[in-house]
Amino acid sequence: MTGKNHIASYYAATANDPTRYPSLEGAIKADVCVIGGGFSGVATALTMAERGRSVVLLEAHRIGWGASGRNGGQMIGGISGEAMIEQQLGKEGAKLVRDIRYRGHEIIEQRIAKYGIECDLKYGWMEVAARPRHMQSIRAQFEQRVREGEGGHLELVEPEDLPRVLGTSAYHGGFIDRRSGHLHGLNLCLGEARAASALGVKIFEHTRVIALEGGAKPWVKTEKGRVEAGTVVIGGEIFDHFGLLRLKGLMLPTGSYIIATEPLSEGIVAQINPQDLAVCDSNVVLDYYRLSADRRMLFGGRCNYSNRDPKDIGASIRPRMIEIFPQLKNAKIDFAWGGRIAIVLNRVPVIERLAPNLYVLQGYSGHGVNATHIAAEIVSDAICGTTERFDLFDRIRHTRLPLSGWFGNQMLALGMLYYRLRDLL
Ligand SMILES: Cc1cc2nc3c(=O)[nH]c(=O)nc-3n(C[C@H](O)[C@H](O)[C@H](O)COP(=O)(O)OP(=O)(O)OC[C@H]3O[C@@H](n4cnc5c(N)ncnc54)[C@H](O)[C@@H]3O)c2cc1C
Repeated sequence: MTGKNHIASYYAATANDPTRYPSLEGAIKADVCVIGGGFSGVATALTMAERGRSVVLLEAHRIGWGASGRNGGQMIGGISGEAMIEQQLGKEGAKLVRDIRYRGHEIIEQRIAKYGIECDLKYGWMEVAARPRHMQSIRAQFEQRVREGEGGHLELVEPEDLPRVLGTSAYHGGFIDRRSGHLHGLNLCLGEARAASALGVKIFEHTRVIALEGGAKPWVKTEKGRVEAGTVVIGGEIFDHFGLLRLKGLMLPTGSYIIATEPLSEGIVAQINPQDLAVCDSNVVLDYYRLSADRRMLFGGRCNYSNRDPKDIGASIRPRMIEIFPQLKNAKIDFAWGGRIAIVLNRVPVIERLAPNLYVLQGYSGHGVNATHIAAEIVSDAICGTTERFDLFDRIRHTRLPLSGWFGNQMLALGMLYYRLRDLL
């Protein structure tokens, strides 16, 4: 993969901001240095700039080059690992989970309105039961959230009602969250970067960070420059550890792949997804899909833990799409691409302070559109001195695999194979 341009995808082909940022050469100073130009890094940089701090943002490739510019675009309520947060933090954890569930949505909505970001936001997201027994836990989840006061935007879809929602017989019911939805991730990320730059954030692309030095007075070393900053934020699913033991074995990269069909006719769209919902199934290794603004089916799934992408992504994903929607058997595939989902073993995003002036936010386990924006606000609050929510995340115990790299991924592959077999039963 070359980092000069975004990888070829539906998103890159429909990106609406051609801005290119320079690469860093020489030394520069800032209050805050953010590493990573995906949602985590860009949202942190923008928040800190909105609060009057001088910020430098360093991105190894292009803004939105990683998962943020390639994902399924599903803006889903909540974060991954909620059950673990409640298990580890008890009532405080349960309250935290409830309080932040839609906070990322609010931040995204406010930014779209304030900065005029065009990213095709639409509402309506659905989880579908891939097996009859999955409907029990979907029903329990729905009832719990209705008890928590979310009845106004949640809707249970019984198996017999499914045909009015989706044109497939593959599922056994589900629930719709009308507060969640879907969007064009790359255009959101580019738009937030544009807003940050307009507020004075110095953004550098093609600027890989190679080392963190300096302890209490941190400075960041790049290939051709350095940044001296009061605070450094490792902002995103960055698989470099910069020699920091606490980041080793924490996130495991797993491949996930998406195909985009040619634009579909209005007739086909009315048959398969008349409410224009973003959809995830209930399997651990799940299918996820939605329609783009120009009516393409964007269908994703199939994790791979070997870090070797399939030779032909289209050939590997298309049969699954046809199994769910035979109506698409003649639809041409215009784009096929993949990215890395950063799985954390206990699934809870990593929001931590690694040293007095060094923060990290990463590891959303495939659930990052909403969660990155929540995490960016929590870290920004902590840097500015409000640490209530940050301290709760900082208390979460994460499991680190003693082996990372190839061995770590083989261990993860074995674990996921177990879940995959369970999904199939
Ligand atoms: C195929 C796919 C589908 C997904 N679908 C969804 C979905 O539908 N809904 C959802 O909520 N989530 C989804 N996710 C997850 C979501 O996209 C991520 O959790 C989220 O984008 C992570 O954002 P980030 O900023 O933390 O990381 P990234 O977007 O990966 O950004 C990290 C950035 O850091 C840069 N970088 C790396 N190393 C260095 C370095 N040494 N120096 C400087 N820069 C560096 C990278 O180039 C990259 O741009 C999906 C992910 C993938 C891969």
